[in-house]
Amino acid sequence: MSGASPVDVLLIGGGVAAAAAAEELRAHGFEGSVLLASRELEPPYHRPPITKALLTGRCEREALALREAGWWEEQRVELRTRAPVMSLDVATRSAKLTTKEEIRFGKALIATGAMVRRLRLEGAALDGIHYLRAPGNAMSLRADLAGAEHVVVVGGSFIGTEVAASLTALGKRCTLVMQEQLPLERPFGVAVGRFVADLLVRHGVQVLGSEDVQAFEGEGRVQAVVTLSGRRLPADVVVVGAGAIPDATLAAKAGLAIGESGGIRCDARLETGAPGVYAAGDVCEYDSVLHRRAVRIEHEAHAIAQGRTAARNMLGAATPHADVPYFWAELGDWAMLEYVGTAGAWDEERVEGDPAGGSFTTWYLREGMITGALTVGRPEDLERARARALVAAGHT
Ligand SMILES: Cc1cc2nc3c(=O)[nH]c(=O)nc-3n(C[C@H](O)[C@H](O)[C@H](O)COP(=O)(O)OP(=O)(O)OC[C@H]3O[C@@H](n4cnc5c(N)ncnc54)[C@H](O)[C@@H]3O)c2cc1C
Repeated sequence: MSGASPVDVLLIGGGVAAAAAAEELRAHGFEGSVLLASRELEPPYHRPPITKALLTGRCEREALALREAGWWEEQRVELRTRAPVMSLDVATRSAKLTTKEEIRFGKALIATGAMVRRLRLEGAALDGIHYLRAPGNAMSLRADLAGAEHVVVVGGSFIGTEVAASLTALGKRCTLVMQEQLPLERPFGVAVGRFVADLLVRHGVQVLGSEDVQAFEGEGRVQAVVTLSGRRLPADVVVVGAGAIPDATLAAKAGLAIGESGGIRCDARLETGAPGVYAAGDVCEYDSVLHRRAVRIEHEAHAIAQGRTAARNMLGAATPHADVPYFWAELGDWAMLEYVGTAGAWDEERVEGDPAGGSFTTWYLREGMITGALTVGRPEDLERARARALVAAGHT
């Protein structure tokens, strides 16, 4: 290790969590050296437009960049793209990049994000079946859509519903097929599920709930999606949104504990079992003081907030991560859904407003206390939801 280059802070991962940590270190006056090592081809970028503006061609991939090109140099953050960390030794505080460089670090953040969950079904390798995680995936899908008429979207969560809305807006005939009865029903209940299903159907999407995809059919290229109940859905293109798997490979190889969700186990301050080594974002399973249990959350604002908390703790703050999670989703230009809270396992939902009129809030309660809310068209409810979630967690 004598030839290894020393850095004060090593940020592993090229997403918003690592980038937010870099920004927070400098915002707090940290003068030491910071190296961000990323597997990506490009500097850190926003993923949410991948299912929305980038897919519909309302923006190009350059518009997704988190920072202007000169920002990294100005902030004295050494940015290495195409330079994944291949191995990590938390005892000697050193890392090896695939570029063969060895780095010795004072503190490190692992923010390696998540990967798409791929369906291992008959016909899964046919051409025309797409997954969305990086901008290049949206560009390939865009190119493949040119001659396509029928698109089958698999999965009733955010990726699936957003893609169905975006592709319908592009004039494609979309069928959304999912295991649950209604889209988004599992995490957010029947009222939200019905609202989303009605909205999609009104705009021409065929919504098929309680269906399991069994196989993809075609010769070389996909032609149909076959379900367990025996439906054969014609498809020129298929998009799968079947969830994400935390990318904890590097951490597991380094001997760090992995939690039940597959994320890196961290304490409430986002520190792993190795002192000075933190995790943040989609890959981080932490003891949440607000949820009062271990959780892992996959939303952009949460990843940013955790990158900031980890950075402050690297500088000695030693505070738990206690930001109430927030996220948004957009179904074309038709509706924006926003959520604030720690709802998780809620046991009661209360609906205020008028879902049919496109303006309502679902409040989630656990043991009689509000723990979160999802709203469409009533953003003023979000502050109340945040305050109530803090009360429910005993943080006022
Ligand atoms: C298509 C899509 C749409 C989304 N839309 C929304 C939305 O509307 N609203 C919302 O709130 N959230 C949305 N999300 C979720 C949000 O984008 C994620 O929660 C967020 O990107 C997580 O950031 P992260 O930094 O933790 O991980 P990532 O963005 O996954 O970044 C992790 C990075 O680490 C890199 N990496 C992995 N291993 C290594 C290694 N060994 N060495 C170096 N680098 C490595 C990866 O290449 C990647 O660049 C969306 C996600 C996707 C995929």
